[in-house]
Amino acid sequence: MSSVQTAEDNNPRKYQLLIDGQWVDAESGKTFTTPNPATGETLAEVAEADKADIDKAVAAARRAYEGKWSKLSARDRGRLLYKLSQLLEEHSAELAAIETADNGKPIKESSYVDLPQVVENFEYFAGWATKIEGETIPVPGRMFNYTLREPIGVCGQIIPWNFPLLMAAWKLAPALAAGNTVVLKPAEQTPVGAMELGKLILEAGFPEGVVNIVPGYGETAGASLAAHPGIDKVAFTGSTEVGKLIAKAAAENLTKVSLELGGKAPNIVFADSDLDQAVAGAMMGIFYNQGQVCCAGSRLFVEEKVKDEFVSRLSEKADKIAVGDPMNKATQMGPQVSEEQLNRIKGYVDIAKSEGATVITGGESPKLDGEFQNGYFFRPTIFGDVKNKMRVAQEEIFGPVVSVISFTDEDDLIKQANDTIYGLSAGIWTRDITRAHRFAKEIKAGVVWINTYNMFNAASPFGGYKQSGYGREMGRHALDLYTQIKSVWVDLSGRPIGWFGK
Ligand code: ADP
Repeated sequence: MSSVQTAEDNNPRKYQLLIDGQWVDAESGKTFTTPNPATGETLAEVAEADKADIDKAVAAARRAYEGKWSKLSARDRGRLLYKLSQLLEEHSAELAAIETADNGKPIKESSYVDLPQVVENFEYFAGWATKIEGETIPVPGRMFNYTLREPIGVCGQIIPWNFPLLMAAWKLAPALAAGNTVVLKPAEQTPVGAMELGKLILEAGFPEGVVNIVPGYGETAGASLAAHPGIDKVAFTGSTEVGKLIAKAAAENLTKVSLELGGKAPNIVFADSDLDQAVAGAMMGIFYNQGQVCCAGSRLFVEEKVKDEFVSRLSEKADKIAVGDPMNKATQMGPQVSEEQLNRIKGYVDIAKSEGATVITGGESPKLDGEFQNGYFFRPTIFGDVKNKMRVAQEEIFGPVVSVISFTDEDDLIKQANDTIYGLSAGIWTRDITRAHRFAKEIKAGVVWINTYNMFNAASPFGGYKQSGYGREMGRHALDLYTQIKSVWVDLSGRPIGWFGK
């Protein structure tokens, strides 16, 4: 019998909260439903956590942190994480189908990108558990000074809906490797993957209370987790707007915070680039995951002399993108995650038009038949005649909408590329290596892709400059977010301190 519920059986699915190793109803008895965005039909009914449940989960995480979890060796923590990565790999096919049903992303993406990366992250951080070390410091005198790198404690983790399982992996894996315990709140739009992950966490054998999963709404469950005096750290991925609320709530208790927020990435095409590569890269930059990517290349700067050719090739390809049933292996774009997001995108299309931008292609929902006519689909959309100052080029849309901005001068281009409140990522397409590295140095962003886009690996850090947040996830730097340093001094002289005289 599989421990993961397949996408087909028991529709709608039912889930409880995972607190202290038990599946329990919410204290209020309330539940909420989440739709399949491809059809609008109910996918799951989920217990709705609120403050009382968050209190219980935080208390359980504290007991686990001070009890069983702290007694486990680093090796055993690593083994549990590795076991979890193996269970995830074993159940990848069912989990990919669940992720697609919950979020709407094409099955090809969830199968070949999301799930493999989820597995990779747990595997990578499993290896780190035994390698988190302190250091000895060469202090003067007959003193011995060393550091201990200790876990922070109970971590509240709040994640978004665009890569539901992957965001859970980015958050849980380093936190657990470093010896913390966790209260995880999935997004209300996509709680299902996290609940299935909870089953595998129990099956792997993590002690009760080490991972608690509390689905619920942002303003209730999320807000009470961020403001909770019982947590030592809050980690958040989501919008810059909500990131500010989280930082404010955390400031009340001086809870440590890490934030991975929005973006409005410049993706820059020089005339000397391989245009086939650059067109494919621009598509990957904006249409991947229906454009619901914080590092999406949503500002496409194209050198004036190749702009017309580039845009015509891009729009021809964009029109051929297969939009439809995300469970179909040939589909390249599924629905947006929710009706709210679909309406937000439509709103930005109106804003762009009113600002003087022109629709080159898309700008509306496609006409789909049968059960998909009620899905939240939107066509790949390209705007021309955009100026960097326009709202469509400054505000994060989080949909398949790209703004083409032409440029002639490199210095002015850098200024424009950096003229944004965000600084998460950037892309550049050129054959001139000095220009590529000059750009990498001058752009104010946490990740730069040269002649590629949307590349990730569990070993490579990811995070933002400016209002795209603070802290780096993945790679060894993620451990800095989940550990704190203790400095220990030892007097080796065996004599009293001479300061106040004999
Ligand atoms: P989006 O606007 O794209 O839905 P959000 O930033 O609102 O993204 O949501 C990301 C996560 O933050 C979700 O888990 C959501 O429930 C949570 N969230 C939303 N509002 C708050 C809040 N005020 N406090 C804490 N968490 C919140």
